[in-house]
Amino acid sequence: MEKICVAVRVRPPTPESSSENGSSLWKVDDNRISLYKSLDTPISTASYAFDHVFDERSTNACVYELLTKEIIEAAVEGFNGTAFAYGQTSSGKTFTMTGSETDPGIIRRSVRDVFERIQMISDREFLIRVSYMEIYNEEINDLLAVENQRLQIHEHLERGVFVAGLKEEIVSDAEQILKLLDSGEVNRHFGETNMNVHSSRSHTIFRMVIESRGKENNSSDAIRVSVLNLVDLAGSERIAKTGAGGVRLTEGKYINKSLMILGNVINKLSESAKLRAHIPYRDSKLTRILQPALGGNAKTCIICTIAPEEHHIEESKGTLQFASRAK
Ligand code: ADP
Ligand code: MG
Repeated sequence: MEKICVAVRVRPPTPESSSENGSSLWKVDDNRISLYKSLDTPISTASYAFDHVFDERSTNACVYELLTKEIIEAAVEGFNGTAFAYGQTSSGKTFTMTGSETDPGIIRRSVRDVFERIQMISDREFLIRVSYMEIYNEEINDLLAVENQRLQIHEHLERGVFVAGLKEEIVSDAEQILKLLDSGEVNRHFGETNMNVHSSRSHTIFRMVIESRGKENNSSDAIRVSVLNLVDLAGSERIAKTGAGGVRLTEGKYINKSLMILGNVINKLSESAKLRAHIPYRDSKLTRILQPALGGNAKTCIICTIAPEEHHIEESKGTLQFASRAK
C-alpha cells in the first residue's frame, strides 16, 4: 500500500488583511508548521510536522514539483493517482489547483506534463480521455455537458464503479484539455448569481483516464489503464461560522458530512495498511467516485491550505487536524 503524502500550504496575506497583524501567525520551519503568535497565546503552542510544508512564498511550480510530479509520472506508467486541495474557503485551494496566468496550478501543469511524457514514450500508443464533474449537495453534475445533471453512480463487474452518463472527451493535446476546462468553468456557474459562493460549496473533480498499449503486439505488453483525479474540495469551514440558514445550511451539512467521510477513509487507509480494516468508501459520493484511485497501489497527495489571518485561526487548526489524521 502506498503511503498518502500530506502537505500544508500557507497562502500569503491578502492586501486587505496584511495590515491586520504585523507578522505571521504561522511559522514554517522545513516540514514543520507552528502557531507561535496570537493575541492570547504569545508563545508557541502547537507544532505539526508533515511530508511538506509550503510557506507563503511558495509557488505552484514548487508545489507541483514536490507533490504531484511523481503522481503524474506513475499515472503515465499505469498507476492510479489522486491529488486533493482541502481547506476553508479563501485559503488557496483553487489557486493551488487552477492557479493564475503567471503561475498555473496543478491541473494545468499535470495536463502539460502528461502529454510531454507520453510523447517521449515511443513504444506505446496512448489514448487520453477527460471528464470534469462537480458534486453539489450530494448530486453529481457534468461540467462538460450542462444537460447532464444529477448523474448516478453505477457498479459494473468489469468496469468497476463509474458515473453513468458522464461525458468523456477523447483528447489529443494539452491545449484541447485546457479549453475544455475553461468551458467547464463556465458551466459550473450556470444559473448562479454568486459564482464564488457556489464554487466554494461544491467539490470538483477533474479526471484523466490514460490508456496505453504496446505497439509491438506481444502479450507481455498488456493494455494499461490508469485514472488520475485532481480534486478541488468544497470549503471545509464549519456551518455555524457563516451563520447560515436555509440553502446554505443544507449545503453546509452535505459538505461537512462528505469531508468527514473523506477524512475517515483517508485515516483508515493510512493507519490500516496492515489491518485490512473496512474502508467506508460507500458512505459518500465523493469517496465512491474516487475509490479506485484511493488506496491500494494508487498514489495520493493532499494539500491542506491555510489562511494566515488571525480571525481564521480556529479553521486553520481544524485543517491541520484533518491533515494530521491523514498522515
Ligand atoms: P479557495 O479556493 O480555497 O476558496 P482561492 O484559491 O480562491 O481560495 O484563494 C483566495 C484568494 O487568495 C484568491 O484571490 C487567490 O488568488 C489568492 N491566493 C490564494 N493562494 C495564493 C498564493 N499562494 N499566492 C497568491 N495568491 C493566492
Ligand atoms: Mg475555490
